[in-house]
Amino acid sequence: PTAMREIFLEPPKVRWSDIGGQEEVKQRLREAVEWPLAHPETFSRLGGTPRKGLLLYGPPGCSKTLTAKALATEAGLNFIAVKGPELFNMYLGESERAVREVFRKARAASPSIIFFDEIDALSASRDGGGGGGGGGGKTNVLTTLLNEMDGIEVLKGVTILAATNRPEIIDPALLRPGRLDTILYVGPPDLPAREQILQIKTGKMSISTDVDLGHLAEATEGFSGAEVVNTCDEAIHYAMRESFFIEAVCARHFEAALERAVPQITTEMRE
Ligand code: ATP
Repeated sequence: PTAMREIFLEPPKVRWSDIGGQEEVKQRLREAVEWPLAHPETFSRLGGTPRKGLLLYGPPGCSKTLTAKALATEAGLNFIAVKGPELFNMYLGESERAVREVFRKARAASPSIIFFDEIDALSASRDGGGGGGGGGGKTNVLTTLLNEMDGIEVLKGVTILAATNRPEIIDPALLRPGRLDTILYVGPPDLPAREQILQIKTGKMSISTDVDLGHLAEATEGFSGAEVVNTCDEAIHYAMRESFFIEAVCARHFEAALERAVPQITTEMRE
């Protein structure tokens, strides 16, 4: 029962339009998941086989979780989110039971999507690292997960979406056809994407007319989406430090926030 705290069944309500950039990822997910569900007759007439599982990979803070939520919202799927480190590092036998429980819930809530965030946790501590389950336990958890994946009938409407920052350590068995066989890179936002992210974020703020989003987009080169958003939140703090009566966040507050920002994405994390 304690394990089940990690499972959230909620309508996330993130739309594609809440995500700046990532047009190719959005389109691929529409085609692979939304279309077959929305137009099953056309899809089967053409001989399509629905995708059962997809893997999103890329550096932290670049909208993998956001994308999973948007897909659920836009395709009208119930959303079941679990974090790898919490699910896979339980004590002996607990993780297996929790994995089965996740799939049971997903089937009960179908059409649904299971989002496994940080799926690499399944591999990460196999060699004896921190996990509670320890060594051999991980293999059993993997086997359980594979069995559940193979047992799912796609047409019954359970789609699996997994995310990782470390695709290179994912067990190849997970990536075989019929499992997480569609692999999509979710990279750092380019210039137009950063401007879109800034538009989305500042659309919910009160900003002064002296704020130039095009300039901010250029100044945030190398930032993840999360870092772009965070810079805006920092700017709010700078504005409030100035006065509690201030009406809007001004260019100088964004400049101050930018000066402090240290982007975390390194070149090795990029594709
Ligand atoms: P992690 O690997 O750290 O889990 P992630 O790739 O799953 O990261 P998200 O959790 O989706 O990243 O993004 C974190 C936050 O950053 C989002 O909640 C959102 O505020 C912001 N963000 C990131 N990318 C975008 C984007 N393209 N458009 C709008 N907001 C974004």
